[in-house]
Amino acid sequence: MMKIVFSSIVNEYLYVKFLQMLKKGNKLYSILTGSCPKCHEESMYVNKNPYKPGHLFKMNERCSHCDTKYKIEPSFFYGAMYVSYGVGIAFAVAAFVIAKLLLGAGLVTTFLAICATMIGFMPVIIRLSRNIWINFFFKFDPNASRTTS
Ligand SMILES: [Zn+2]
Repeated sequence: MMKIVFSSIVNEYLYVKFLQMLKKGNKLYSILTGSCPKCHEESMYVNKNPYKPGHLFKMNERCSHCDTKYKIEPSFFYGAMYVSYGVGIAFAVAAFVIAKLLLGAGLVTTFLAICATMIGFMPVIIRLSRNIWINFFFKFDPNASRTTS
């Protein structure tokens, strides 16, 4: 009984921590939502849904709240390709763990599951990589937004 109570308290704590991490002001918020890395007020992307055909790479040029120019220099987002290796591997490992270790799939099935995951999540991987990449160069600035101050 004590153990159950204890673990639910720990779970609660982790959950609250997780929510705090997802609040504006944390880099993770910008990375997961694709919002402006400086003010976290609006999406960098023309369409938030990366699966919308033709919209995967369409970004606004500047943030309408803090006037941050996303593309710091020409072909700035080529650097995101380096990040996408890591993000891609993370998705592949997750697919491997779920297919092989949790579902007990065979080697070929696991391999196919990894391939399907990589292809299916490609738009998400690309956007996450861009979000991580741009967050290397910008820091959250609570005073950046002109509309809230
Ligand atoms: Zn902004």
